[in-house]
Amino acid sequence: MLVVVALGGNALLRRHEPLDAAHQRANVERAATSVAAVARAHDVVVTHGNGPQVGLLALQSEAAGGSAPMPLDVISAETEGMIGYVLEQELRRALPDTEVATVLTQVVVDPDDAAFASPTKPIGPVYSAADATRLARARGWAFSNDGDDWRRVVPSPRPSAVVELAAIEALRAAGIVVICAGGGGIPVVPAPGGGLQGVEAVVDKDHASALLARCLGADVLLLLTDVEGAFVDRGSSSEQVVRRADPASIRALPFPPGSMGPKVEAAAAFATRGGIAAIGALEDAARILRGEAGTTVTATADGVTLVPPRRN
Ligand code: ADP
Ligand code: MG
Repeated sequence: MLVVVALGGNALLRRHEPLDAAHQRANVERAATSVAAVARAHDVVVTHGNGPQVGLLALQSEAAGGSAPMPLDVISAETEGMIGYVLEQELRRALPDTEVATVLTQVVVDPDDAAFASPTKPIGPVYSAADATRLARARGWAFSNDGDDWRRVVPSPRPSAVVELAAIEALRAAGIVVICAGGGGIPVVPAPGGGLQGVEAVVDKDHASALLARCLGADVLLLLTDVEGAFVDRGSSSEQVVRRADPASIRALPFPPGSMGPKVEAAAAFATRGGIAAIGALEDAARILRGEAGTTVTATADGVTLVPPRRN
């Protein structure tokens, strides 16, 4: 069975932890342990998020001053190396007899995607209203606010193709565990004179992982994060976890657009085409695949099955 395992940005960095090399290493080691448990039984391709890392590198680039800040496509590429390198080392440690390779991955997006007209994905730090206004003028950045906190927002267009797909397939055919499509991949569009060029956007890693899983003909899309599954009535005393659902039934439930929403949509899209998709906690990876934990979305389910959450 081929399983595409997507590691959430939150699975790689616990909330409120500083993003330094030591914390990143500790979290990646945890993630590698979970991926290794799956890889001992199945073929795996690993993808990952990069939200906190993009924010940090964008800030570092700005702090350098004097020169224009690095464009987002270049920063996305940097995060694929930054995370891929550590993940590769930890996976090799967890799976001593397995070859692991990281592929810098570009994904094609549509330059006319409606997302370019309405940026929604927050990146980087929180700014004051005055700083946000100044940066919006100076750099042409878009901002959105939550109370007095302003954050830069960038477009998050849907990916339509994985540029390095043939390379990923060739490595897989050779039995190599591939880490790719990090941070949703580097967003590119056809360049006027031929070839490709990067754009100022961040692709959602859940959508990119679903696209990759479909292109690879994967059996399972496993979206690992920091919650035990998709909750209904989350935060209320009656909250429950969706254990199993068919794609149309889970799509009919409300989930927030910036977090659980894209996971549910990516899972439903993959399941509609006949695959099995699952969402759940990093440490539950093997149990989720057995249907004993997490949220499984499959066309063979009938309606929505709810279970009480674990209280831990
Ligand atoms: P990742 O980096 O794994 O993509 P996200 O923050 O994008 O993480 O999505 C996971 C988060 O979604 C959880 O940490 C949780 O706080 C949030 N969330 C919002 N609504 C729900 C819901 N209905 N069920 C489960 N999690 C939810
Ligand atoms: Mg997310």
